[in-house]
Amino acid sequence: MSENLFSLFASRFPQDRAKPCFLTPDGGAVSYGELEAGAGRLAALLRAKGVRTGDRIAVQAPKSPQMVMLWLATLKVGAAFLPLNTAYTAAEIQYFLDDAEPALFVRDAAALAAEAQDLEPLDEVVPRAASDLAAILYTSGTTGRSKGAMLSHGNLAANALALHAAWGFTPDDVLLHALPIFHVHGLFVALHCALLSGGPMLWLDRFDEAQVLAALPRATVMMGVPTFYVRLLAHPGFTREAAAHMRLFISGSAPLLESTFEDFEARTGQRILERYGMSEAAIITTNPLDGERVAGSVGFPLPGVGLRIGGGEDAGVIEIRGPSVFSGYWRMPEKTAEEFTADGWFITGDVGRVDPDGRVWISGRAKDLIISGGYNVYPKEVELVLDELAGVEESAVIGAPHPDFGEAVVAVIAGQGEEAAVIAAAREKLAAFKAPKRVVFVRELPRNTMGKVQKNILRQTYADLFGPRGS
Ligand code: AMP
Repeated sequence: MSENLFSLFASRFPQDRAKPCFLTPDGGAVSYGELEAGAGRLAALLRAKGVRTGDRIAVQAPKSPQMVMLWLATLKVGAAFLPLNTAYTAAEIQYFLDDAEPALFVRDAAALAAEAQDLEPLDEVVPRAASDLAAILYTSGTTGRSKGAMLSHGNLAANALALHAAWGFTPDDVLLHALPIFHVHGLFVALHCALLSGGPMLWLDRFDEAQVLAALPRATVMMGVPTFYVRLLAHPGFTREAAAHMRLFISGSAPLLESTFEDFEARTGQRILERYGMSEAAIITTNPLDGERVAGSVGFPLPGVGLRIGGGEDAGVIEIRGPSVFSGYWRMPEKTAEEFTADGWFITGDVGRVDPDGRVWISGRAKDLIISGGYNVYPKEVELVLDELAGVEESAVIGAPHPDFGEAVVAVIAGQGEEAAVIAAAREKLAAFKAPKRVVFVRELPRNTMGKVQKNILRQTYADLFGPRGS
C-alpha cells in the first residue's frame, strides 16, 4: 500500500470540495477543490519540466496558497520539498543549491501556478513507502554548516495525525495561520492540522497585530511563536472579548516566558498551550488539551514518542525516538552518526529534565552551556532569576571569553536597571560562579523570524567585554 502523504490529506479533504481551505484578509477564498486541482496542475507541470521521483524541489518564495499547492504537487510526483527562509541571501542560497542539487528552484510559486493554468491536472499519486523522503528542512544553523534534516512521508504523517488528535481538531475548526511556511512550525505543524481536519485557515502573509485582531472573531485556534503573544499583549485592542471565541492558543519554536503565560491568562482567561519541537522531529512534547497546562513546562511526550535524558542523570541532554524522528542529515552520514546514540535515539541538543509527573522542562541548548572557572552554568537558571527583577523585561545569559575564568557569565537585559544592583540581586539567589560578572542593558534582544533569541549574535557582540578575545 502506498504511504504517500498526499493520499492521507486527500482522504481527509471535505466531501464538499467547494468548502474553503484558505481565507485571505482581502475577502478572497481558495477552496479545497481549487487546492486539489492546483496541486494536480502543478504536478503535471513538474513532470513536464522533467522532475522525476526522488528529485528535490527548492523553494524560496513568498507565502501563498500556491506554495502549498506546490508542496502537495511535490508529494504527488514523489519528489522532496526543500523550503528556504525568505531572509536567506544569495550566497546562503547558493550553499543550499550546491548541497541539495535540486531539479528545480522556485522563487515565485504564484507564477509557476499561472504557468500550469492550462495543463490537465495530474491524477496520479506516485506510490511511496513510509520511509521515502518527502522534505528536507535545513536547520537554522546558528553555528557551523546548516544541516538538511531528511523527513519522510511516514515521519510527517505520524506527527500530523498525533497532533490532530492531541489538540482536538475537528472540521469546525478555523485556524489562524500567520506563521511563515518555510519552517516546520507553519508548514507542517499548523498547515497539516488544518488539512487533516478539512477546515479553513485564515491565511495571513505574516504576523500583523491589526490583521490578527481582525481575524480572531472568526478563528478557533491560533498557532504562534512566543513573540506573537508578546506583541498581542502589547496591543490595547487585545482584550478578553477579542479572544473569547478562541478554543486554543498554541505556542512553540522558542521558550514562552512564564510572565507571558501569566499575563495572557490575566488578560484573556485562557492558558496558552506550549509545545516543544524541532525540524528533525516536528512536535515532540505538548501540554495537554484537557489537563493542567503548566507555565514553563513543555508538557508530555506525544503518544508514540520516547523521551529520555542522556547519561541517566536527572537533568541533561534530551534524547528522543519515535515515528516522527527524521532519518538523518542530507549527505552528512558522519554528522548523522554523531547525533544518534548507539541504540538509535536522536540527541536533540536541548537540555532538560522530566519531573515525577512525567512533564518535560527545558533549560536551554547544550551548546549554550557556559563553563566558567570549570563550573557549568545553565543560562536558563540565571535568566529565570534575572527575569524576576524589577525593570527587567527579559534577559539572555551568555558566556564571554575571560582571562581568568575561561568564560564569564554575561547578562544582556532588555529593560532598565543598574549593573551593580542586578549583580547583587543575582548573588542573593545564585552561587557566585553563576551570577553575572557583567550586565549590559539593551532596548531589545536580537531574534530570528521564529522568535528565537540569537545568542550567537550576542556572543559575537560581547566577545571583547573582558579585553580583546578575553586576554
Ligand atoms: P527549529 O528546528 O528551528 O524548529 O528549532 C528547534 C529548537 O527550538 C529546539 O531544539 C529547541 O531548542 C527550541 N524550541 C522549540 N520549541 C520550544 C519550546 N517550547 N521551549 C523551548 N525551546 C523550544
